[in-house]
Amino acid sequence: MTHAEILSRLHALRDQIRHHDYLYYVKDRPDISDSQYDRLFRELIELEQAHPELVTPDSPSQRVGAPPLHELAKVPHEQPMLSLDSIVEQSEVLAFDQRMKRELETMSVEYSIEPKFDGLSIELVYDHGIFTRGATRGDGTTGEDVTVNLRTIRSLPLQLQVDSGIPDHLVVRGEVYMRLDDFQAFNRRLIERGDEAFANPRNAASGSLRQLDSTITATRPLVVTCYEIMGMSGSMPPTHWDELETLAQWGLPVPMHRRLCASIDDVIPFHHETESMRDQLPYEIDGVVVKVNRRDWQNRLGMKSRSPRWAIAYKFTPRKEITVVHDIVISVGRTGTLTPVALLKPVEVGGVTISRATLHNADEVARKDIRIGDTVKVERAGDVIPAITERVPISGEQRTSPFRMPDHCPVCGSTVGREGAYFYCTGQLICGAQLKGAIEHFASKHALNIDGLGKKTVAQLVDQELVRSVGDLYRLTKDDLVTLDGFADRFFIIGHGEINRGRVLRINTGHGLQHD
Ligand SMILES: [Zn+2]
Repeated sequence: MTHAEILSRLHALRDQIRHHDYLYYVKDRPDISDSQYDRLFRELIELEQAHPELVTPDSPSQRVGAPPLHELAKVPHEQPMLSLDSIVEQSEVLAFDQRMKRELETMSVEYSIEPKFDGLSIELVYDHGIFTRGATRGDGTTGEDVTVNLRTIRSLPLQLQVDSGIPDHLVVRGEVYMRLDDFQAFNRRLIERGDEAFANPRNAASGSLRQLDSTITATRPLVVTCYEIMGMSGSMPPTHWDELETLAQWGLPVPMHRRLCASIDDVIPFHHETESMRDQLPYEIDGVVVKVNRRDWQNRLGMKSRSPRWAIAYKFTPRKEITVVHDIVISVGRTGTLTPVALLKPVEVGGVTISRATLHNADEVARKDIRIGDTVKVERAGDVIPAITERVPISGEQRTSPFRMPDHCPVCGSTVGREGAYFYCTGQLICGAQLKGAIEHFASKHALNIDGLGKKTVAQLVDQELVRSVGDLYRLTKDDLVTLDGFADRFFIIGHGEINRGRVLRINTGHGLQHD
């Protein structure tokens, strides 16, 4: 191929991949098979590897691969990212409408309504249609730069659809979240690995987006949706509804479930309708956002110190403490004990969203007769781990078969032994979960008191197979340690056979080796 042919092939491949990404991740309507897509992607990668000078930052190949950061840089927002006042009662939304009509001196106000996503708010900047920066909301004026992490989210276009009259400069507000089914599967993997699960999809999304290493973010099933133009060169669309339509034309994902309401009389039924379909939606929402549709009216209404006067979050009434068991997974403890854990459809109990509950042991599961798919009552008292108190029989329900403990450890595959109600992994230190327990004990105050070797670090050492036995701790090098997530932030002390004599080495990425 000539240089010109290579350039044009690269261009064509990138366009095709972008188009298929858009159909798949934004429209949810792919029109080629996964293997056809993979072929296109592989051709792009091979061509770019042969001609690295032709790689562009907006190439679909550039979503992953940025080097890990030491910290997330602080960035000021171009426009303050306001929060919304929220209400729950119907009387309050009627009062809101009265206030709008009074201030606008009109008989009726048109509203644009969309779901209120329970995720992490973000600012996205596009220059000449290319995604150049993304930040978390932070305190509203300053956020954290998460550009490289956002690039890994496939529903976020790195390049806007150019044939649609895009502005030179564009700042969009959106939300990053995790779909419920993805969240359950993700938590399942964490629990089976013996790691801490996330309490709810929002925490999981936030933790995933705020990683220092974007390759970790890339493995997390994050989704983005956009709902506001915070600023742009040229004139803004005349209404909020047009704003959403415009964002969609540019190829950005926008809320599909939304409605233009001629008056407040249409807002209330939409709220009820959305609340009743809440459990069928594939993502968590906690209400709807009611916005005055006309931009000139929005400007006239202006804002309070931290929130706009022209919009309000109309929340749903808190859920009852009844939910559904999505799955029952096995958590392997630090001592090898197998504990059944129920993964639940997230439910708010006492202001905290609960998405998992311990089932304690096999006898307990049998006694309460809890099975996958069952409707159950969840309780959480004080700081106690949430527990399922009882099953709620539903008339006519088709139940799955009774739960039984596995024969093999989900972490290491060793045979499972039994003592009374308790099941345990017989793998001992070949079992990653038990190895973590042994190292944690070794590092603890009761034993060698190794500063900085906490649960998270131990989990990483074992998961990345840097340590396969307690003895491996002595063989760790600084190069091993700097690969650890968040390591730059803290000290970590290890000994090279010198621990016994009370002499330890302190390693810090900033200061190199120091004798303590
Ligand atoms: Zn095991």
